[in-house]
Amino acid sequence: MKRVSQQGQHRILFDFSAVEPAICYLRNRTDENLERLISAQGSKIAYHHHLWSSFDSKPTITEFWKKNLEQTTWSSKLETDITAVKEYLATQQHDNRWLTAVLEYLPKGHVFRTTVYLNVGYDSIVYGEDIALNLNFKQFHIDHREAIYYLIHELAHAGYFRYRNMPELAKMRTIGNLLDTVKLLTHLEGMGVISPLKMRLQDHGLLDNDYKVLMNETERNRRVNEYFTILSRLQSKRNQPLHEEDFQVLEQMSGKTTRLWYITGCHMAQKILQELEAETLRNLVKTGSKEFFKTYKKLENPKANQLRH
Ligand SMILES: [Zn+2]
Repeated sequence: MKRVSQQGQHRILFDFSAVEPAICYLRNRTDENLERLISAQGSKIAYHHHLWSSFDSKPTITEFWKKNLEQTTWSSKLETDITAVKEYLATQQHDNRWLTAVLEYLPKGHVFRTTVYLNVGYDSIVYGEDIALNLNFKQFHIDHREAIYYLIHELAHAGYFRYRNMPELAKMRTIGNLLDTVKLLTHLEGMGVISPLKMRLQDHGLLDNDYKVLMNETERNRRVNEYFTILSRLQSKRNQPLHEEDFQVLEQMSGKTTRLWYITGCHMAQKILQELEAETLRNLVKTGSKEFFKTYKKLENPKANQLRH
């Protein structure tokens, strides 16, 4: 089941084809049902994303999906919740508001060529210029609008990867490589977080925790300072080889309780937006994360900021 959303010259395809097989498999975990699930394109993109983002485990697609759904128990409530979000997205797909929101922070003239894959139980992710949304995400069940805000977030990433390459995580060898990756992902996530912000504020749709932190100045500053403390530490040993324990940085940056690159990336983007033209922020997507950091540092010296706290 594919539906095309064609606002103007944009081509954004919604692919729901992995949803029903996933529900069938949850209801009845047979090899046949698993086979049907993994043959859906939306299951494949989740698998490729997993291979890209994981350093150790290289399961087959069958092992991957089996494990992915191991902890999920089917219930009629779960099925109703998933179906409700799916139907909500289907009704919203021709709405222009989300597209306008995401285009506001991409280079002028950006034209989408993106497929939005809906999955059950993986994650909401970007892979190249395609994205996926996980319909079994509590937040989407509590407030359906969250699925649209996440759509905007992930589309901002798909737009970003038109102009910049995805980092090759498996090829990182030095602390310097890790630092460059952290900077790229901070820029990427910052743009992802700022993109639905205006719409969230207009709608009072602020369920997501990142926005609660961003609205709280003390907590926002605390996270930004923590982020730059880690960044200076990496900077001071950028020529050293990368060790297993250095990967903890990625957990600190993205972890549920810290969310450092989401908060800091958005903070940096907002600062640039506040002090300079929106055009500057949009064009930084083309020039990349090094320029994003340089532009921000010119506006605010984070070291001086740290000393004050
Ligand atoms: Zn993101």
